[in-house]
Amino acid sequence: METSYPRIYLHKGKEISLQRQHPWIFSGAIAQKDNLQDGDLVEVYSHKKEYLATGYYAGGSIAVRVVSFKQTFIDSRFWEEKIRKAYNYRIKLGLLNENTNAFRLFFGEGDDVPGLIIDYYDGHVVIQAHSWGVYREINHIAGALKQVLGNSLKCIYNKSAESLSKHHGQEVQNGFLFGEGGELTVKEHGYQFYVDFVKGQKTGFFIDQRENRQLLANYSKGKYVLNTFCYTGGFSVYAGKSGAAVLHSVDSSQPAIELCNKNLALNGITNQESFAVDTFDFLKDKKNVYDLILLDPPAFAKSRDSKHKAVIGYKNLNALAIKNIKSDGILFTFSCSGVVDKYLFYNTITAAAIEARRNIRILHYLSQPADHPVSPFFPEGEYLKGMVLWVE
Ligand code: SAH
Repeated sequence: METSYPRIYLHKGKEISLQRQHPWIFSGAIAQKDNLQDGDLVEVYSHKKEYLATGYYAGGSIAVRVVSFKQTFIDSRFWEEKIRKAYNYRIKLGLLNENTNAFRLFFGEGDDVPGLIIDYYDGHVVIQAHSWGVYREINHIAGALKQVLGNSLKCIYNKSAESLSKHHGQEVQNGFLFGEGGELTVKEHGYQFYVDFVKGQKTGFFIDQRENRQLLANYSKGKYVLNTFCYTGGFSVYAGKSGAAVLHSVDSSQPAIELCNKNLALNGITNQESFAVDTFDFLKDKKNVYDLILLDPPAFAKSRDSKHKAVIGYKNLNALAIKNIKSDGILFTFSCSGVVDKYLFYNTITAAAIEARRNIRILHYLSQPADHPVSPFFPEGEYLKGMVLWVE
């Protein structure tokens, strides 16, 4: 097959990770390349000049993000096939149903296109491109979404200004690529949530905690529950609807607390209190108050350089909660830092329990739901880790 995409040749031995279908090529692996621009489509060849993969070039340490291991043209047909496959997978899994109409429609490497995130909110679709190569395809991607979703599509919103690198983010503006919309309500397990994908953090709602919220619901009845880093109050709504005796929600952001209160009211939960304060400050003097504490902080580490500091942050936060939770309490604790893998996280939580001088039992290991699929060739895709602990 003949394409005219520029070629990159790798050093000897650097083809191995690609043959195992890992979709990233680091800049040090490259032996020879043309004068390439950020975002260019390239074909990657071994030192023996054998075709290996097609992907987008970028100037940083990840030099190529692979979108195909078969030689192909990256055209509107390619995008329609990718989007259709990803959408059909979610439909076959029953993720769109009478109780739930918000799900991640496309999850980067988990759906074989690094850098592409698409969230679906009852027909309102939000795209976040994380690489310039993917961003430059946004009209193809929008066209594919129209083909695949047909009449059920209400709008497509491009929210890539903050997901792209600083340099490229300044070059683009968020906006509607099709239709229009704004704040809406979605259903998750039958509960209602306001989502404001234009003004909210990320794409407006943390869809990835859907199943973990359901598990929290199972443990909340009659309990004194504290939900920290609550954002739009996802976990709070589940706890409130499941009969928590006391429900407190904490987030350092005042707009987040307002959204949390709005969502609690939307679901008819009035017996609760929310606090716009720092979690560390709030927890400090709350000894023996709560039976159930939930910790879902933002990613403490965004890069490898901040990994060490992040681990200390997780240890301190968890030690504080483990120290203060009531005897026979239940702690839900999470990390969404990609660079802190699950084993490091589990060990960090163990260290926190040792520091707090409390005995713990592990009730559950948690992860992300099926609309955030993990490829066995890309274990880094498993970014959400959680544990549920029994604290004696
Ligand atoms: N649990 C949420 C998602 C959490 S996102 C859900 O299920 O939707 C992380 C949140 O932590 C953000 O809303 C951010 O405002 C908040 N945050 C960040 N640092 C904080 C701190 N030190 N104390 C309290 N909240 C914090």
